[in-house]
This record gives sequence, structure tokens and C-alpha cells, in this order.
Amino acid sequence: MTRDPLRIWVDDIARRTGFAGADDFARAFDLKPFRLKQLYRAATKELVEDLESVTTLPKELRAEFAARGVAFSSVTPVVLQRSKDAQTTKGLFRLRDGNEVEAVLMEHHGDRTTVCISSQAGCAFACAFCSTGQAGFTRNLEATEIFDQARFFAQELQSRGKRITNIVFMGMGEPFHNYDAVMNAVALLNDPHGLGLGHRHITISTVGLVDKIDRFTDEGLQVNLAISLHAPSDRVRSTIMPVNRKFDTAELMAAIERYVEKTNRKVFFEYVMLEGINDTEACAHELADLMRGKLYHVNLIPYNSTPDAPFQGTADARIWAFAGILDEARVPTTVRHNMGRDISAACGQLRAETQPKAHKKAATA
Ligand code: SAH
Repeated sequence: MTRDPLRIWVDDIARRTGFAGADDFARAFDLKPFRLKQLYRAATKELVEDLESVTTLPKELRAEFAARGVAFSSVTPVVLQRSKDAQTTKGLFRLRDGNEVEAVLMEHHGDRTTVCISSQAGCAFACAFCSTGQAGFTRNLEATEIFDQARFFAQELQSRGKRITNIVFMGMGEPFHNYDAVMNAVALLNDPHGLGLGHRHITISTVGLVDKIDRFTDEGLQVNLAISLHAPSDRVRSTIMPVNRKFDTAELMAAIERYVEKTNRKVFFEYVMLEGINDTEACAHELADLMRGKLYHVNLIPYNSTPDAPFQGTADARIWAFAGILDEARVPTTVRHNMGRDISAACGQLRAETQPKAHKKAATA
């Protein structure tokens, strides 16, 4: 399937303003193709804040857009928090229907800047340790609602002479549960006429939806795949990740083998370290057996404790001992540097702090 970024973008703007789609929108304002391109470029490449600032547009057209409520951005920042070391900026964004999602900007030493974005309001997969998962599912985001989180930080960085170098789909939601919108957002992020982020600089992280991993394999994109494994066996994985009862570890690993076979791309495994649950020596050996000799990379993640979950993070020394066992088995392993702990920068935590009750209600409605 070809995904035309300009069309995706105009379609989304049109629909959220009450039009049937891009054609209907173009007709209503009598917009020629060059005008649509001009709008798209202004929003996605020049990163102009909003329509009224696009001075190349006729004044009357800008007034018409304003009167009909046409706007560039589908998300409005409502809270922005910067960590003390200024390396992490977390944003809570309001969508047009009042739902809220989070995105995080991480400015690493050197020139790397990574933005972590959300693909859904809430999440349906209920991982026991994840605060988004505990709050339940509200709705899928549209492609531009996903893209605009990145657009916001791209603008913010531009004002400081910097730019986004990497995008990770590791915010709220399960990207493969909103497959088409996520792939459309990838097309928007990647478009050389727009933001222009290379596929190799984009990472999609999934809870392990086997059918969607197969679909993703067939796309033949250079986008990175990360798998939230978090346990080396069904026995442990099913207790913390209900999705494992639908797609078990063997099925998951088989889908990943098919992916590597076809794409020859490395797969990243995320493994959040939970004290006494998945951090034992036995787990490390089991994980090493699963990973050994493959094009795999393990990321051990220190747990960000959440108020309502009954878990403790593994102590650093034990994390390093666990990593040591993987090293011995020659499994490429990194321990993720935990950024932004002082601003609750883990998935779903900021929103849980600002609107715990409202959200829980929305999720069960
Ligand atoms: N649904 C996708 C993206 C979710 S968030 C997925 O499951 O991969 C990205 C990563 O953060 C996942 O690996 C998730 O398991 C992990 N995560 C969730 N809550 C966390 C917490 N409190 N501390 C550390 N990592 C967490």
C-alpha cells in the first residue's frame, strides 16, 4: 500500500474540521493542488506554528480557515515539565475531544535528540507494571495526532537551532493496535518534503501482536522493531502481560524469526527489571538461551515505579549481574539510562498524576 503523506495530512485536517475528506475540503475552499502543498509544507517542513502565520496565503483565505476552525495542529500542550538536568522535557497534550496523551523529548549528550510519542489514548493490553495499561483503553489516535506530538517538539527544537534525530513509539498505547494510523504517521515523519526523518531513525515498540508483526515484516520498511518481552518464558510473561495468553512466547519468537529472515534487520528486546518477578539468575539464563546467536539486542530497563502497581524495581547491582549473564552468552545487551525520573517520564505517569479519576472514568465508559 502506498501512503501519500500529503493526502494523509489533508484528509486528517479535513475530517477533524467536519469535512468528509481531502477532496471535500479542497472543494469547499477552492484549493488548487499547489495550495494544499503549500499548506502541508508550511506545517511539516517549515514548521510554521499555525495557519495565520502562513503569509504566502491570501488574507481572505486565512480568514475563511479561521472562521471554519481549520488549524495546523491537532494537539495542544497543557503541561510541559523539564527535568532538573534539562535533558528531558515531558509534554502532556490535549486532543480536540479532551483526551490527553504524553510525549517526551530526550536530548542526549552530543547531537542525538529522541522524541517518544503516543499512538493511543490509553492502552488495551493491561501490562501489570505499566500505568497506561492499568488505566485502560480510550481511543486510537489519528495519524496527525501522532505526528503533531513530534511536530511540536520539532518546532521547539528549531527555535534553539536543533532538530529531532530519532522517534520512538514508546509512549502511551500499542502502536500495532492502531496499525494504519501509525504507519501513516511514519509516512508523515519520513516524508523528505516534510519532516524528513529517515526510517532507520524511527522505532516501533510492540507488546508482541504476532499478526501485526507479520504484516509489518511484509511492508519491507527500514523502521526498527522493538519487542516488549519482559520475561523469557510463558510462565512469567503471562503473569505480567495478559497479551501472552493470546500470542505466547514461542509464537512471538517465531514471528520475529520470520521478520529477521526477511528483512535481515536487528530486533530490539525491552526487558523491564521487576524485583523478584523476572530478574532472577534463572530468568537471565533462560533469556540468554532465547537470544543467543541471533540478530537480537536486549535493552534492560530500570523500572519506573508507579503509584498503583505492586512492583519494585530491581536494584542496580542485580541489573548489572543480570546483564553480565547475557554478556557471557554474547548477547548484545545495554542497560537503559533512565532519563527524567524526577518528572515521572515513564509511560502514562504524567497523565496519571494530573487526571487519574477522569481518565479511569473515560476508560470504562
Ligand atoms: N505498547 C508498546 C509501547 C509501550 S511503552 C509496547 O508495549 O512496547 C514502551 C516501553 O515502556 C514498553 O517496553 C513498556 O513495557 C515499558 N514500560 C511501561 N511502563 C514502564 C515503567 N513503569 N517503567 C519502565 N518501563 C515501562
